[in-house]
Amino acid sequence: MILLLARLLLPAQTVLIATPRGHWAVPVVMERGAAVAAPLLARPLGLTLTVEVGGSRATVQLGGVVFVFQLDAPFARAGAAICALVGDPYIARDTLFLPLPWLSDCVPRVLAARYRWDAAAARLEELAAPVAAPTAAASASMATAAVAGAGPPNPITGLRLHHVIVIDPGHGGPDPGNPGRHVPGGLVEKDIVLAVGRLLRAELIRRGITASLTRQTDTLIDLADRGAFCRAQCDLFVSIHVNAMPAGRRGERVSGVETYFLSDAKTEDQERVAKMENDALRFETETPAGTPGPLGYILRDLQLNEYLRESARLAELVQGRAAGVHPGGDRGVQQAGFMVLTTARRPAILVETGFATNPIDGAFLASALGQHKLASAIADGIVAYLLEFERKLAVGAPAGGG
Ligand SMILES: [Zn+2]
Repeated sequence: MILLLARLLLPAQTVLIATPRGHWAVPVVMERGAAVAAPLLARPLGLTLTVEVGGSRATVQLGGVVFVFQLDAPFARAGAAICALVGDPYIARDTLFLPLPWLSDCVPRVLAARYRWDAAAARLEELAAPVAAPTAAASASMATAAVAGAGPPNPITGLRLHHVIVIDPGHGGPDPGNPGRHVPGGLVEKDIVLAVGRLLRAELIRRGITASLTRQTDTLIDLADRGAFCRAQCDLFVSIHVNAMPAGRRGERVSGVETYFLSDAKTEDQERVAKMENDALRFETETPAGTPGPLGYILRDLQLNEYLRESARLAELVQGRAAGVHPGGDRGVQQAGFMVLTTARRPAILVETGFATNPIDGAFLASALGQHKLASAIADGIVAYLLEFERKLAVGAPAGGG
């Protein structure tokens, strides 16, 4: 039996699995403190679902695809695709417990042609029955691909899996970001972060990592929409910004790079930065679309709480590398409530690359050399994080091993 887990907010939550052969309401029970559990009895609906547990690893086959779970690690792997689960799969009472995001996020992503997750209705929909049932050969090859999983290590990075990063250059269009009082050449924040974002994309691609930008030109994208770029095929979300202090002599002395992950702001300074970046909201014309529905709140809660661990580690590694090349000094890892980070469904960080109100930082940020150094350092930090991530997944470990 398989159980699904999520943080419990409502006492009688259900997840509906809707297939052409019938609907299946999954009941919710408490498990391991704040968790939702639901028995997954697939046979009546004709879902091809098989489960095998061996050592510290469990495999679940669904729709011809093998999902590999490492027990007590918050990830699932299907072929080269990685799903962050925000909770650890585990076994108790002869039952395999899987975090709910496996069903709500991972299955619809890996089996996009067959399943769709409707967050508002809290249901997994199987799309119209396949025209022809997959042949045995096709199923077998998919399963083989899934088991084979990781390729040889990339000669530059040592990474074995395919990773996708979304880079978010802040502000744009009518929102200039901070005006850059001490940035040469009349550059403002939106120009600098776009330049650094593009260079970061190039640095990641050079390291064999797929990277895309939320904006490639001087346009404005709503804060709530930026995170949506990091949903299906995305491992990490990295937002790039430039800091500023209020006018005044003290303000001009403040310099350095700092990296944020999402949480409630803890200090006055962290609050100032969050307020400044969230201020882009006033340039936006549309209100955010619909409420997420009851399960949406559960998943949102999961995301806000459980991704913190991964986001904090990513922030630490990126900050370490960026501070190493920055003339303004190391302001460390910070936490604050950035709206742009709440909508990414993956580990997400925001790098404040330096102070436009400080002459040394300003000159560094405006120079091609400075921008290159920053982009390269951030890329190195991302690679360091992904290497750890792959080690946790036990990528490359012998099949069936522990
Ligand atoms: Zn900004």
